[in-house]
Amino acid sequence: MVKGLWVLGDQLSASQAALAAQPPGSARVLLLESASVLRRRRCHRQKLVLVWSAMRHFAAELAAAGWTVDHRQAESFRAGLAAWTAEHGITELRLMEPAERPFRAAIVAAVEAMGAGAPRLVWHPSNAFLWSRDDFAAWARPYKQLRMELFYREGRRRFGVLMDPDGQPLGGKWNYDQANRKPPPKGLKGPEPLWFEPDAITADVIAKVEDLAAQLEAGGGPRLPGDGRRFRWGVTRAQALAVLEHFIATRLDGFGPYQDAMVGGEPTLWHALLSPYLNLGLLHPLEVIRRLEAAGRERGSPLAGLEGVIRQILGWREYTHGLYWWFGPDYPARNHFGAAQPLPDWLERLGGSGMACMDTVLGELEASGYSHHIQRLMVLANYGLIAGLDPQAFTAWFSRLFIDGYDWVMQTNVIGMGLFADGGLLASKPYAASGNYINRMSSYCKGCRYNVKQRSGPDACPFNALYWDFLARHREQLGRNPRMALVMKQLEKIPPEELAAIRSTAAAHRASHHDL
Ligand SMILES: Cc1cc2nc3c(=O)[nH]c(=O)nc-3n(C[C@H](O)[C@H](O)[C@H](O)COP(=O)(O)OP(=O)(O)OC[C@H]3O[C@@H](n4cnc5c(N)ncnc54)[C@H](O)[C@@H]3O)c2cc1C
Ligand code: SF4
Repeated sequence: MVKGLWVLGDQLSASQAALAAQPPGSARVLLLESASVLRRRRCHRQKLVLVWSAMRHFAAELAAAGWTVDHRQAESFRAGLAAWTAEHGITELRLMEPAERPFRAAIVAAVEAMGAGAPRLVWHPSNAFLWSRDDFAAWARPYKQLRMELFYREGRRRFGVLMDPDGQPLGGKWNYDQANRKPPPKGLKGPEPLWFEPDAITADVIAKVEDLAAQLEAGGGPRLPGDGRRFRWGVTRAQALAVLEHFIATRLDGFGPYQDAMVGGEPTLWHALLSPYLNLGLLHPLEVIRRLEAAGRERGSPLAGLEGVIRQILGWREYTHGLYWWFGPDYPARNHFGAAQPLPDWLERLGGSGMACMDTVLGELEASGYSHHIQRLMVLANYGLIAGLDPQAFTAWFSRLFIDGYDWVMQTNVIGMGLFADGGLLASKPYAASGNYINRMSSYCKGCRYNVKQRSGPDACPFNALYWDFLARHREQLGRNPRMALVMKQLEKIPPEELAAIRSTAAAHRASHHDL
């Protein structure tokens, strides 16, 4: 028997289940770079640079640890896998379960396509998250309605995080979110993030991605978003750990208050910038949580911020992953409001919407592949929700553009939290908001050509017109949600002629999507 072990691009950890199950040298290890992904999906260039460079660095680390490693570049996964299997006479192929459903199916199909020479597939259950899929299912089964807060409290108890010795939450409260919603004062500036100059390996990958992008365009294909030459993300575990330590030293104590704030020219504020590294496997969520807890206690960090960041990782991150597998394969196709608007051209171009909030966020996304949570939720997804953009097209857009975008985290965040296309499986009400919210929580409106106080007419903020139009469009469905009762009452108070003017402003804005 010749054993092979395929390490996928988001499984870059020496302790991942398939590698940890056998000693170094007991199997040939494959890491496979497939270029076809670029032809099929117009990814942000920096996302490809990140994954490919991190894979190359990880391959070198595994080789140094005594593994026999084959790092291959192929046109497609299927072709690369078949060639490697034949070349080395692999008879048993081991993998850790992928985090994404479609990829597992593609691997099974690729192995079956090898026919009689196909290796036997051996799957190792994933250890990339704190909660296994079975444990999550056992927790979720008794509930009629799942809620993150209950899951999070169970996680705190189960893994003993921020707990007093008597089994009570540290400080007497489970959740300090109320203390974390401050609007930004004028001139708010966050600490500088930790970025890295590309080394020789990363420089090679940047050249390859830029080359592929140029070939694609020369062949009549569309321009790939982003610029690989501006890439400054970390690509190794050592760099990811340095980002974690930098977060603790410069951001942890300030993480709480301005978590929901948005400021022009300050794309990261106090956010952790850890998702790309967690999602690739360079950091394990439990090690990050333990380190944050220990550092927070040592430093005497404000509990609201410490609890806040731990809730994001132990709560939201684990919850979105657990739900992705719990909800099943038809979840991504959900479309509660029957939304069908095609994506505006300016989303593909990453700019040119005319809305200062949107163009700022899109510009930052173009620069680095990153936006922080409130920009994703309350600018991008909020717009998609109230404008009625097609949820599946919008989810695919998020997946291609974001440096940390993967199916397992996108589905629940975009379909569920952002667009309410799942009808409330994830959130208890839609996160819909008018320009008023953006004006309160950001610095964007001051430099905008639209007037955030107006809701109809050519100068009216599109978020205002679209918001009231959304409520009116789905009056019946939303009226059944008790958490929407207050805003639905406000809708009823708008005189009919004014509502008609608002709705025609919204219609005119939507009609302008493709010719701005
Ligand atoms: C519409 C939409 C799309 C999103 N797409 C992605 C995505 O593609 N990939 C991704 O990892 N996250 C996604 N998120 C969740 C969240 O916005 C990002 O994890 C976060 O902004 C990453 O930046 P950070 O590391 O600076 O996070 P911080 O705000 O500093 O939070 C710390 C960590 O908590 C975790 N986290 C926080 N919120 C969530 C959440 N809702 N779901 C899962 N993990 C969370 C992340 O691992 C993050 O690194 C999305 C959220 C929304 C609303
Ligand atoms: S006025 Fe409206 S469109 Fe302009 S920045 Fe504010 S919320 Fe965005």
